[in-house]
Amino acid sequence: MKSIILKTLISLFSLAIFAVLGYAGYQYQQISNELARVNAENDSNSRLGAKQTVEYQGNIKQLEDSIKQKDAYITFLEGENADLTRSLADERGKTQGFEEQVSIIGKTIAEIQKIQNTDAELLKKYSKVYFLNENYKPAALTTIPSDELVEKKRIIEIHAKVAPFLNAMVAASNATGTPIRIISGFRSYEEQRALKTTYQVTYGAGANKFSADQGYSEHQLGTTVDLSTEKLGLAYTQFAETKAYQWMLNNAYQYGFIISYPKGNKSYQYEPWHWRFVGIALATYLHDNNMYFYDLDQRTIDTYLGKLFDDHI
Ligand SMILES: [Zn+2]
Repeated sequence: MKSIILKTLISLFSLAIFAVLGYAGYQYQQISNELARVNAENDSNSRLGAKQTVEYQGNIKQLEDSIKQKDAYITFLEGENADLTRSLADERGKTQGFEEQVSIIGKTIAEIQKIQNTDAELLKKYSKVYFLNENYKPAALTTIPSDELVEKKRIIEIHAKVAPFLNAMVAASNATGTPIRIISGFRSYEEQRALKTTYQVTYGAGANKFSADQGYSEHQLGTTVDLSTEKLGLAYTQFAETKAYQWMLNNAYQYGFIISYPKGNKSYQYEPWHWRFVGIALATYLHDNNMYFYDLDQRTIDTYLGKLFDDHI
């Protein structure tokens, strides 16, 4: 009996073991399968991942190359732009230089025309050996207003282009209470000869000291005046003693007038009353450098011909 029970128990136990083993085997199989599947999946995923990574890297490389190319292109364009900017600047510079040259040439031509249109005699130095032709006459003369004259009823003429400068100078002298008055202006060759004859009759050979060849040429130009004052009248030889004379020494250059024969000059006798128009530029140069017209060489004087009638420096 015992053995039957034992056998049965053993059998049951064996069955149970088989059952357990069977289940365990099944479970193991299941897990193995699952594991294989997961591994396979993982493999597949990692292959896919690797492939995608390669693709991405490829794309990134392409993008990088593309960016590099664009950078290179931008650098190239910047270079081109810089070149173009330089070229443009060069061209502008050339154009400007050209415009400046045209302007300079224009100015030079204008200056040449001005010089050509200006009577060169008006800035000549005259002496006992170089004086004006007896037929010379200024291009245009105009009458000096009577209130600027010592003798109101006389007709005294002046070079038409010098008249505005003379009028302005007289007005300025009036305004400062040291009025100048004109006693003599343009004198033709004939008038001068007659005057000289009168002097010679009065003073004999000494007349040359008053009215020698040198001085008459300047009056024949029409740019020269002899000055006096209302008070002094015809006694103009004493003009140096007047305040008007001091005013002239300090201010005449601003109106283009100079004293031709100042005290101590080497070319002629002292004539404080005798003032010649040489233009503001030259008169100012002489004033500023404490020089006199007849001390300059003719070549230097001639450089002022184009500016003779300029109303400013
Ligand atoms: Zn004179």
